[in-house]
Amino acid sequence: MRLETLPDWLLPLWQDLHKRGTRLPHALLLSGPEGSGKRLFAEHLARALLCQSPDDRGFSCGTCADCKWIESGNHPDMFTLIPAADEAAAEEEGDGGAESGKKEKAKSTQIVIDQVRSLQASLEVGAGGHAGGRRLVIVDPAEAMNMAAANALLKALEEPNGSTVYLMLSNAPRRLLPTIRSRCQVLDFPRPDTGQAVAWMRGEGIENEALLGFVSGLPLAARNYAKGVLFEARRKVASDLATLGVRDPLKLSADWESSLKAKGAQEGGFTMPILINWLQRWLSDGVRVAGGHPARFFADYTTDLTRQAKGRSEAWLNAYREIETHRRMASHPLNQRLFLEEMLLSVYRRIAIR
Ligand SMILES: [Zn+2]
Repeated sequence: MRLETLPDWLLPLWQDLHKRGTRLPHALLLSGPEGSGKRLFAEHLARALLCQSPDDRGFSCGTCADCKWIESGNHPDMFTLIPAADEAAAEEEGDGGAESGKKEKAKSTQIVIDQVRSLQASLEVGAGGHAGGRRLVIVDPAEAMNMAAANALLKALEEPNGSTVYLMLSNAPRRLLPTIRSRCQVLDFPRPDTGQAVAWMRGEGIENEALLGFVSGLPLAARNYAKGVLFEARRKVASDLATLGVRDPLKLSADWESSLKAKGAQEGGFTMPILINWLQRWLSDGVRVAGGHPARFFADYTTDLTRQAKGRSEAWLNAYREIETHRRMASHPLNQRLFLEEMLLSVYRRIAIR
């Protein structure tokens, strides 16, 4: 598979690494939130390090034997350690999202010790890459390694064999074993400024700039949103909330429950904790708008928020705080419908009744 170009705001990071040439450390920790471009960066770096004739900016040529090999997904010196669940999801995407027809048992969301052992066995075959060059291991995300896996990998990091480069990707580096962190050189992933982000999104055909605030300024995450289940779900939830004053909260609860249970919703990431998070974002935007500040998450609904929240910041703040208590139970409500009803009624009482 051919890689998309690295976005502009990651180029300074790339140039820094490129300048170091062959003096790269044997383990890098690519650190940044989901959607900051770590995986794309790691794939570019892996290709560049295996390529026979990288260009003068340090990117892989795309035409040599190694590049072709990587593109076919079978390069013998390139390894990825990812949770089995992610592997399954990637395969499904490869099918064009086609139905596999069979329900498989849930795949692990952890990276387990068997995966690390099998990696180590592969690394022991031959010495130092198939052509005496480097070998690349991408671990994504590194915090998915369970304790046994992390300890096994730690041994490899403690005894570098000179030719293997580990690219550890992490959304939450604090959750890694300190001993692993300390073996890696950290690369912090920057956020683009708004101008860069919006220009990039336009290039991708994403017109809704308000999404950028919704994904904390990370355009690659905005693209995932724009293409997925969550985009439509967000639109629906926001327009429901914009008309809360004329809705029956009990009917709305039933409606939201069926949206959560709809086919593809959970797989697409539309879950109860996400729904509650959005509700809180809506309320926090209301508080901001009432205080004369721009909406942060639902900037595309500023008119609705202003109409609803103007002069009522205290009521909205109280509603926000009340949701906070619901949020803690969001992952395991005993009865989803009752949970939604109770939550929506309390929001309704605070902000919809005048
Ligand atoms: Zn090449």
